Amino acid sequence: MPSVCVVAKKCGGCRYTGVPYPEQLEMKQKNEEELLGKFGKLERIIGMRYPCFYRNKVTAAFGKDKKGNIICGTYQEGTHYIVQVDKCLIEDEKCQEIIRSIRGLLKGFKMEPFNEDTGKGLLRHVLVRRGIKTGEIMVVLVLGTHVFPSGNNFVKELLKLHPEISTVVININEKRTSMVLGEREKVSFGKGYITDELCGCRFRISPSSFYQINPIQTEVLYNKAIEFAGLTGKESVIDAYCGIGTIGMVAAKKAKSVIGVELNGNAVRDARMNAKENKIENIEFFKGDAGDFMVKMAAGREKADVVFMDPPRAGSTEEFLTAVKILSPKKLVYVSCNPVTLSRDLEFITKNGYEVKKIQPVDMFPFTDHCETVVLLTREEKRDFVKKTFEKKRFDKKSNSRKPDYRKKKDMQRA
Ligand code: SAH
Repeated sequence: MPSVCVVAKKCGGCRYTGVPYPEQLEMKQKNEEELLGKFGKLERIIGMRYPCFYRNKVTAAFGKDKKGNIICGTYQEGTHYIVQVDKCLIEDEKCQEIIRSIRGLLKGFKMEPFNEDTGKGLLRHVLVRRGIKTGEIMVVLVLGTHVFPSGNNFVKELLKLHPEISTVVININEKRTSMVLGEREKVSFGKGYITDELCGCRFRISPSSFYQINPIQTEVLYNKAIEFAGLTGKESVIDAYCGIGTIGMVAAKKAKSVIGVELNGNAVRDARMNAKENKIENIEFFKGDAGDFMVKMAAGREKADVVFMDPPRAGSTEEFLTAVKILSPKKLVYVSCNPVTLSRDLEFITKNGYEVKKIQPVDMFPFTDHCETVVLLTREEKRDFVKKTFEKKRFDKKSNSRKPDYRKKKDMQRA
């Protein structure tokens, strides 16, 4: 198993390069315990059997080195300098091979990489995504301008080299931004999306839709989340921050009904198509901010038995969590990619009627210092809540009762 990367320091993506995998897991477990241990005992982290080449989505920035040679790779940490990456030990090997082929083709087509300072040139980024189960491959060529001279021939040549590519999309990003994708896109070859399979469902994935980058561990993660929810077929479920509807659709098979909510319009469109293609009829998707949506659900006195939430790294909001409290589902399953914001959100929700029952770290990102966590929270039964509040009051009273002693002492001093 390769474990050393020559550009690790410059790239900054893999903090644990050179560290044996069992040790990486140990470090992640410790870090999670430090951040989340105050909420309860953590289960043992679930690692991968083969923790390399797992990233099903590879993005490369294109530019030139000082000698004028075309380079492609990743931005040096915290900068806009491109670090040439010839081989990455966590990215899918087929995706890397396609990116190398694209770099090789550029010269023959007199295609210049886009220069962020001058605004000249053409190719900014390439994004390649592979459906591990279906083998389908999507290539997105991100251009800095909408004119693509010899574009058709370029794509034809690429397909000759890689007939395994299922679709090629041209994305236009003319803005001064660090975002990879722009808003406009045109399908150059194929369907414009790929399909992949997770937990027995097929999912359509568009270029801008979020899709977990480690499909093997995603199944482990989703299975844990579903197990924690303990669905029996009778529950009304909410899948908040649902992306293309993955968790919700897996849950729908075991629940009465599911509502998914997601901000990204393309992801919502994919989610609806996914439900149709999988013939799942007890699920509905809404586009919007998850916090707003939950507030409306709570105001409308809607019911939910289980809420799954899987927010981005910034975590959730007090607005969302307060609405959860009002909706008061029996179970809240929090899937998090950032234990820091998870800890902050748990702090809030555990003061608002929920208790943590299980914490399961899952290693979705070997060699990096990121870690995914699934947490099961259950609503405190009213009597437990009353008991806790009563005990708190009694404690406060008790501590208050010490005050007269303190005053007495003071009084005595005064006397
Ligand atoms: N549960 C999905 C997606 C998780 S990633 C999966 O496992 O694939 C987090 C998702 O939250 C992204 O799809 C992102 O577009 C979405 N998102 C970010 N901010 C949001 C908000 N305020 N309201 C709703 N969705 C949001």
